[in-house]
Amino acid sequence: MRPARALIDLQALRHNFQIARQLSGARALAVIKADAYGHGAVRCAQALEAEADGFAVACIEEALALREAGIKAPVLLLEGFFEADELPLIVQHDFWCVVHSLWQLEAIEKAALAKPIQVWLKLDSGMHRVGLHPKDYQPAYQRLQASGKVSKIVLMSHFARADELDSQASNDQVAVFQAARQGLDAEVSLRNSPALLGWPQIPSDWVRPGIMLYGATPFETSHAEADLLKPVMTLKSRVISVRELPAGEPVGYGARFVSQRPTRVGVVAMGYADGYPRHAPTGTPVVVAGQRSQLIGRVSMDMLCIDLTDVPQAGLGSPVELWGKRVLASEVAAKADTIPYQIFCNLRRVPLIYTGE
Ligand SMILES: *Cc1c(COP(=O)(O)O)cnc(C)c1O
Repeated sequence: MRPARALIDLQALRHNFQIARQLSGARALAVIKADAYGHGAVRCAQALEAEADGFAVACIEEALALREAGIKAPVLLLEGFFEADELPLIVQHDFWCVVHSLWQLEAIEKAALAKPIQVWLKLDSGMHRVGLHPKDYQPAYQRLQASGKVSKIVLMSHFARADELDSQASNDQVAVFQAARQGLDAEVSLRNSPALLGWPQIPSDWVRPGIMLYGATPFETSHAEADLLKPVMTLKSRVISVRELPAGEPVGYGARFVSQRPTRVGVVAMGYADGYPRHAPTGTPVVVAGQRSQLIGRVSMDMLCIDLTDVPQAGLGSPVELWGKRVLASEVAAKADTIPYQIFCNLRRVPLIYTGE
């Protein structure tokens, strides 16, 4: 069988969740949207169910998949419903529901609900993506209370720049939030991973860690707490072909790499169809036969090439780590001009193998 694999270390996932819990001292929803950032939502939810206060996903399709797999914990829909006809399912499965727009508020007011639902009322405190305008926030809260359709309201907002530790933007957003929620006696949820790790003074009765659970730092520079996280995913494969080239020979599509010296090239069963970023350039780190080396030439659909010249112990069949504990996904992401979030979410075709149940 093709040797490409993603190993998912569930013990590392739990370790990272515990860091989120300890640092925040708050209740924590594990964010497992987008199939747990490519790590497999059901298995990750099962691994965390005993400790997490609930889960957060992007939409009802993702939430229903958790219920079908027997997950009974609370599940928050981070964008609420997209159409009002999702409301009966939200009631039936006890999903918690973000309300980020006035049309959603109106839909709840109009709906005949068998039971009241829990709403997380989202304020646009400055990111200007979704969330209610500050002037609409208190009226929306009062209308939800008056509707009789809501059992509990949690006040929430989301940061645009919490990963920038030298920016005032997050404090500015908190100030907007505090002004908008003045006098409302309700629990608050503000912190995502970068805010949880980098902004300890920001209040949050509920935290919403995502990327940190998977062991990737949200920051561009080293950070004491973020550096305690353990990578959960190891993307592995093997060398399936080796060739010796003299100096001056091209490798791969577009001849993007030309050997500067006699070069031993290893071909690895991994490509952009697996989610390895096509934009990763020559020089992107890999580990082969236990030693760091680098990608050479363009990544193709099913294969990529690496330099074995200085790794004499490497040869046909040698194991390759594309990212994991020795090459961080964030290093690959930086080389490919993207972020570990996208690196993980893009994973496909590769079988996921779970350890540390
Ligand atoms: C995705 C998401 C999170 C998690 O963000 P991370 O940066 O991965 O921790 C938290 N809150 C909301 C609203 C989200 O959409």
